[in-house]
Amino acid sequence: MKAAVVPALGAPLQIRDVPVPEPGPGQVLVRIETCGLCHTDIHAARGEWPVKPKIPLIPGHEGVGVVVSVGPPLGDHEPPVRLGQRVALPWLGHACGMCRYCIDGWETYCTAPEYTGYTMDGSYAEYAVAYANHVVPVPHGVTSMDASPLTCAGVTTYKALKVAEPQPDETVMVVGVGGLGHLGLQYARVFGARTVAVDMYDAKLQLAADLGADHVVDARGDQQAALAALGGVDVALVTVPSTHAMRAAHAALNPRGRMVLVGIPADNRLELPVFETVLRGRSVLGSLVGTRNDLADVFDLHARGLTRVITAARRLEDVNACFDEVLAGKVPARLVFQM
Ligand code: ZN
Ligand code: ZN
Repeated sequence: MKAAVVPALGAPLQIRDVPVPEPGPGQVLVRIETCGLCHTDIHAARGEWPVKPKIPLIPGHEGVGVVVSVGPPLGDHEPPVRLGQRVALPWLGHACGMCRYCIDGWETYCTAPEYTGYTMDGSYAEYAVAYANHVVPVPHGVTSMDASPLTCAGVTTYKALKVAEPQPDETVMVVGVGGLGHLGLQYARVFGARTVAVDMYDAKLQLAADLGADHVVDARGDQQAALAALGGVDVALVTVPSTHAMRAAHAALNPRGRMVLVGIPADNRLELPVFETVLRGRSVLGSLVGTRNDLADVFDLHARGLTRVITAARRLEDVNACFDEVLAGKVPARLVFQM
């Protein structure tokens, strides 16, 4: 099968012909139709995070495709998915189901996790293997092109807002109107909040307005003054891996405001003022993707017509050029490889 492979950390990806993987016990083989390009794939390929991925690595954790074979059963359990079913292969490739976080419904913080396209091979390929009880069925009303970005960008921003608990009388600011932000903005509306979108590119500010943002703020101008004029913000969802953007978002928080972080800057350090954090009761939250239930919710919201996914199709052969395109910050929301 054709796959995009990271041969060594920091090296360009190679398009290779590799054997189709065999599903082990409790696993399925999925013929991949689409896979979105998440910024995490670039961090993985470059080894930019404190914990390194497997090498060689097939990245990709927004894979969507059809189950074409089912591995041996685990014990007496029937596999939870059937042949021919269309499923998504999210970042959380496997969780133990037994640790205190799994038992509490926080499987994304499992103490013994597997991550798709990081600790196990992902979906930048014609086929991928996944654990049968960790793939999420894609409803008929959701195309694979739309389902791919929802599988990470969608569920990540949906869950981040659930964690920040925006109220209908509050203002949610979404920083960065890219793959994550354009969906986060729509979830903020679903939660009933007033919305402010911040970006530094005209096309993205226009996209935010088209998607129904109540206000758009140009980060190239006096962002603090513009946000103060709007009455500040109660929840700040920062989707860009920029410490500058995080500090600016923190400064805009009203008393009891919550800043929720989902992107990880390569240098992994953020300096924030303690005085303002204490005197105004501000919180800084981290949030990592979402659970299988959260992803099912995200698919359901989309099937009900409550979200719009902005995508651009790409060929897997162009993966390195696509990475450059994302790093230049100018892609139209989400690039999706069609296999
Ligand atoms: Zn991702
Ligand atoms: Zn666990």
